[in-house]
Amino acid sequence: DKVYVNGQIVNPQEAKVSVFDRGFIFGDGLYEVMAQINGRFFYEKEHLERLQSGLHKISIDFNANLLPNEIKKLLRAVRLTNKDCMLYIQITRGVAPRQHSYPSDITPTLMMYSVPKVLPEINMVNAHVITRKDFRWSRCDIKMTSLLGNVMLNEEGVQHDCYETILHRNGLLTEASHSNVFFVKEGIVYTHKADEYILNGITRIVVIELCKSLGIEVRESAITLEEVNMVDEAFLTGTSTQIAAIQKIDEHQLYIENEKGPITRKLQGAFLKLKYK
Ligand code: PMP
Repeated sequence: DKVYVNGQIVNPQEAKVSVFDRGFIFGDGLYEVMAQINGRFFYEKEHLERLQSGLHKISIDFNANLLPNEIKKLLRAVRLTNKDCMLYIQITRGVAPRQHSYPSDITPTLMMYSVPKVLPEINMVNAHVITRKDFRWSRCDIKMTSLLGNVMLNEEGVQHDCYETILHRNGLLTEASHSNVFFVKEGIVYTHKADEYILNGITRIVVIELCKSLGIEVRESAITLEEVNMVDEAFLTGTSTQIAAIQKIDEHQLYIENEKGPITRKLQGAFLKLKYK
């Protein structure tokens, strides 16, 4: 269906972006993915604030407050107004002759598309994951379009018939190739703190809040690679992943069949209520 490029809504075959766009040449741009559920974008404000904060970090001059109106135009054109769908937003620095430094007079490129998608109420996946060394750069807090590291690490998981690849850096579990990761040990929930080694997922923030409101102790403190074999539960979070129970980490089986852990189930139930609130 149609896509949005710099104010125009056109067929994808007709959409034009210069080959000198810095998004194409350098991966010099950011993106966001939001889910529309029950007629509203889930945590839209938080997604757009993260985008604005990222733009600020890399000095792209674009006002994210302009987006809701443009999103409305796109959704109307593709007949997804109020429908369950996923929205992809990409903002690159813009078009300029190739040079590394930021050009002074440049207009950002905005591209968006939306596809219909009804997320399952609860993610029923019993995810198998592998652990790999996090060889990405150390500004993973920036949601940039240069995802080669994430792509390579994800592919390795897929080659091992796994749902995700979870990553470790300096002996600590950071996040996964396209989701955040949480662990449960003796009733306490652990996840890596929101520093430059992870993307601070909106779902991650929601899950931490849910833990607090449910009276589950949560610590923004990383699990070590050695501790992974001793955790009771583990799960992944992300906009389309929602909350996915991890059944197996490398050779460590956490549960059999569908008997995922009590805290994972509790959080999935609470998350479901939030979606339809
Ligand atoms: N970490 C990485 C590397 C991601 O790409 C994503 C998004 N797909 C997440 C975490 C989860 O972020 P969110 O909950 O905002 O979708």
